[in-house]
Amino acid sequence: LYPSVMFVNQAADLVIQLSSSLKTKPDVGEFGSVFTDHMLTIEWTATEGWKAPFIRPFGNLTLHPASTSLQNAIQLFEGLKAYRGDDNQLHLFRPMLNMDRMANSARRACLPTFDQSELLECIRKLVEIEQDWVPHSDVASLYIRPTFVSTEQSLGIKKPTRALLYVILSPAGFYFKTTDAVSLWADPKYTRAWKGGTGDCKMGGNYGCSLYAQYEAVDYGCQQVLWLYGDDHQITEAGTMNVFLHWINENGDEELATPPLDGIILPGVTRRSILELSRKWGEFAVTERYITMDQLCCAVKQQRVKEMFGCGTACMVCPIGRVVYQGQDLHIPHQDAKVTTRIAKELTDIQVGGHTNTCMNLY
Ligand code: PMP
Repeated sequence: LYPSVMFVNQAADLVIQLSSSLKTKPDVGEFGSVFTDHMLTIEWTATEGWKAPFIRPFGNLTLHPASTSLQNAIQLFEGLKAYRGDDNQLHLFRPMLNMDRMANSARRACLPTFDQSELLECIRKLVEIEQDWVPHSDVASLYIRPTFVSTEQSLGIKKPTRALLYVILSPAGFYFKTTDAVSLWADPKYTRAWKGGTGDCKMGGNYGCSLYAQYEAVDYGCQQVLWLYGDDHQITEAGTMNVFLHWINENGDEELATPPLDGIILPGVTRRSILELSRKWGEFAVTERYITMDQLCCAVKQQRVKEMFGCGTACMVCPIGRVVYQGQDLHIPHQDAKVTTRIAKELTDIQVGGHTNTCMNLY
């Protein structure tokens, strides 16, 4: 779409303006409600390319009211975390996977390409400046939210000729508890993503569209939506998490299964890490395959379901305890969720314990 990276977003050009008044750091509250003292902004125009990256005091943006990010949702975001290791060093977990996913979302949104390593270097610098905001706790971390918006000033729907990439940081709790299993509401009347759509990209529109169903789930006494797809009601994702099912499958084999990346699933960094970890164990089949609601209902009745969990950067792994589907209340075992607990422990050991793992290097 654009003549490759003509003018690169160079970390070496970074301009830093520190805030003269630093905020007092509150306790970690509701997710995403508190922000640090600084932010990173990088402007782009089609004629001049990327301007120098700028770390500056956190503050409001000035946007033209016709900006196509506001009018047509030409925008995208990412989500990753900085962890304070047991060695007191700060670590990012597989951040290049987020940079690559962001570049993929940008391509799909007709936003310009950027140099992923240079952006990561700018983020690393921002986190370094804000290091005191990374909680001294192995149950909390600093959530990093890169955001990329079109600043095209037009009511026409067209490829942006100007854009803004910015990164904000928010201290976040870390909420893995097997006792807190979530309940899911599965109704095929709503669809999160569809073939040929943008479900595999992290675009704001995907999330805005899902809100209505989320509130209906709450009306039905559930916490989140189990998103289904197609006439056979395939399980796709839960809320904003990828989904795993540990069960004895229809052939009688023990299996850890998750839906395949067929365009409607967000390629989660946690999902990929869990697949890699559990395949290394070599204890049961680990597969990317379709799972329909009929298959799940039948397995629950025949007591073949061992565990089911959602996963993502925000919660890491989240046990699923109940699925409400077409008048059925499916109870999923979660009291003694061995695989979920083991995955949580192994991932935590890598993220904060500094355990090295050749395929999951920290940054
Ligand atoms: N699915 C959706 C729809 C999401 O928004 C997220 C959060 N990014 C995930 C899955 C999990 O992805 P990750 O493990 O990279 O956080």
